[in-house]
Amino acid sequence: MERHEPHSCNNAAEGRELRGCKEEELGEICLANDLARFRGSQVFRWVQERAVRTWAEMTNIREADRKLLSAALALQPLELRREQRSQDGTRKYLFGLADGESIECVLMDYERRRARNRQTVCVSTQVGCPVGCAFCATGLGGFRRNLTAGEITGQVLELTRLLRREDEGFQVTNVVFMGMGEPFLNYEAVLKAIEILNSPQGQNIGMRRMTISTSGVVPGIRRLARDNAQVGLAVSLHAGTDVMRDVLVPMNRRYPLAELLGACREYSETSGRRVTFEVALTEKTANKQEASAVAKLLRGMLAHVNLIPVNPVAETGMKRPTEERITEFAGVLTKAGIPVSVREERGTDIEAACGQLRRRYGE
Ligand code: SAH
Ligand code: SF4
Repeated sequence: MERHEPHSCNNAAEGRELRGCKEEELGEICLANDLARFRGSQVFRWVQERAVRTWAEMTNIREADRKLLSAALALQPLELRREQRSQDGTRKYLFGLADGESIECVLMDYERRRARNRQTVCVSTQVGCPVGCAFCATGLGGFRRNLTAGEITGQVLELTRLLRREDEGFQVTNVVFMGMGEPFLNYEAVLKAIEILNSPQGQNIGMRRMTISTSGVVPGIRRLARDNAQVGLAVSLHAGTDVMRDVLVPMNRRYPLAELLGACREYSETSGRRVTFEVALTEKTANKQEASAVAKLLRGMLAHVNLIPVNPVAETGMKRPTEERITEFAGVLTKAGIPVSVREERGTDIEAACGQLRRRYGE
């Protein structure tokens, strides 16, 4: 297992976090410290494009200036605690945060996507999650805190840094906010991280190549439609009726299906984009009746359904359905004219279900 060197710079921990600052903000901080604005742009590039972990690496900035800035800005790299590699090429990382908490981050399908110059990273937005969905390992552990914008961009940066050791040209091209936590319960930090990751001076990841997955926080969906409809939207639907969804996704009791679908329509009208609806299939939900309910709900919408055979998590008792049941479910949707795909099994040998790695090693 690879390990990062221990934190080698001592920054004022109370300073603003460097990885969560936009280029303009760094320019302002430089001006406030009697430095030229363009120093801020240089620092931004080192941090966001080159993914450096220490001030010492910023070789075109004088030591005295670095010292000045490090008193105002905290550069807090994430600490690699564990890495698991799946046989299918998926890699999963457990990162430690400055306060000792830990989060998960997944590089999907590395080998296969390398050939296509496409690299997708799944990032966390909270430590734990307050929503508590029935099949989710993250929810089981409860909620600890929101991640900061710098801890969110930090996952992409650490991963880039690690991968560039073996492949100099490594570049993240897609980001999905589908790791631990509910992104819309941490709206500001998530949207700020997206803006930073989109910066042409940084990772330059296209807005349309980033997707937020939500358990159905309606105000968040509406806000996204207004603020940045370029960003992709995935909704964890999991059931076609309120009775069933109330049990699987407790968020449904607050924002029931009619409201949720209304907000999704608003988003797709504003963005012109399809909404991805995720449906985790268990032994109990993978039947024709549920499939018809989902089909009825989504008929006529700009939608795509992604079926995910549930990843078994010991404590939840949920079991995967048979292949026949999955095919049957997909068939009902196809017949109703709704595009559907079945997510291939990825990383099950390394406990890729959201929250499992942290549950085992991180607490
Ligand atoms: N909180 C957000 C994003 C993170 S969860 C959300 O719920 O959308 C990312 C996806 O993984 C969600 O669709 C979630 O329902 C799904 N998921 C969680 N645990 C799972 C499991 N054990 N098997 C399959 N999918 C799971
Ligand atoms: Fe939270 Fe998403 Fe897990 Fe539900 S599925 S508990 S919203 S992380």
